[in-house]
Amino acid sequence: MIEVADAMTSAGPQSASEGRPTTRSRRGAKLSIVIPMHNEEQVLNMLFQRLDEVSARLGLAIEFVCVDDGSRDETLLMLQELAARDARLRVLPLARNFGKEAALTAGLDHITGDLVVPLDADLQDPPELIEEFISLWEQGYDVVYGIRSDRTSDSVAKRLTAGWFYKVFNSVADYPIPPNTGDFRLMDRIVVDALRQLPERNRFNKGLFAWVGFRQIGVPYVRPPRAAGTSSWASPALWRLAFDGITSFSTTPLRIWSVVGVSAAGLASLYAAFLILRVLIFGRDVPGYASLMVVVLFCFAVQMVAIGIMGEYLGRLYQEVKGRPIYIVRK
Ligand code: UDP
Ligand code: MG
Repeated sequence: MIEVADAMTSAGPQSASEGRPTTRSRRGAKLSIVIPMHNEEQVLNMLFQRLDEVSARLGLAIEFVCVDDGSRDETLLMLQELAARDARLRVLPLARNFGKEAALTAGLDHITGDLVVPLDADLQDPPELIEEFISLWEQGYDVVYGIRSDRTSDSVAKRLTAGWFYKVFNSVADYPIPPNTGDFRLMDRIVVDALRQLPERNRFNKGLFAWVGFRQIGVPYVRPPRAAGTSSWASPALWRLAFDGITSFSTTPLRIWSVVGVSAAGLASLYAAFLILRVLIFGRDVPGYASLMVVVLFCFAVQMVAIGIMGEYLGRLYQEVKGRPIYIVRK
């Protein structure tokens, strides 16, 4: 199980999964760095300069899978020019802007490496950290995720809403996600293969990454501000993502009505019984009040219970439609 509370507080790498890791070596392995990009012409050169410096030190083969998510600037052109000169670079242009989650999924579907790191183009995910990620992978961890130990580069509103989101998500979701994590992480190929077994269309990657399990560990890092350009995430898109996350990983909002319905029906019948008894013992004070009230309460109770029952069926139907595997085998 992922220890969510632990992952937030202590410093240093944080083990978050049971099981005794085995050791492995980066020699002969290939790393795929997946970079979704939307209008990132201003950071591209900076990004590949940093990646060049880092990859020279890593000591394993590398490919960069750059997904152009329908950029309207020179991103795609620049990528194609870079790819013509650098065989490690592969460009995957999407037909239009599908959003980061889709772009990342496309990238993960096209990797050829044994290890995968999704990376934001704007250098908010420091590539230097990959070295540490790989060391932990060598110690046997299948997923090494970055934890944003400091979110001062985000606005106050974003930090607040992000905090609420993790609270709400982790209180209703089937499986918790460690707070303040993003897509920046290292995953073994076996994890990506497991992700491919999830056929759902509404993909909230952060949640899926946690859901599949495996041996996971977190590494805290300070998230710097965007190197250049502007964020493509407008507030409405973030809200949509938050709702996508909660609705993909929880049927609580749908099924809560069966509890509310039964409780409301219980209270309503108690009050109705009280009204009937009062009329029987003390007679009517306002003619029609008791009978009308009892009818209204009865109808309300029946409706709430009916909605609750529908919610229960719909929740189960939703689980089936998502078609997630019942279990995932580690090896
Ligand atoms: N991105 C994308 N498609 C989109 C929006 C963003 O591929 O529709 C990419 C973007 O180019 C960057 C990453 O997703 O590499 C993170 O986006 P951004 O920096 O705008 O988000 P923020 O860091 O503000 O959450
Ligand atoms: Mg960013």
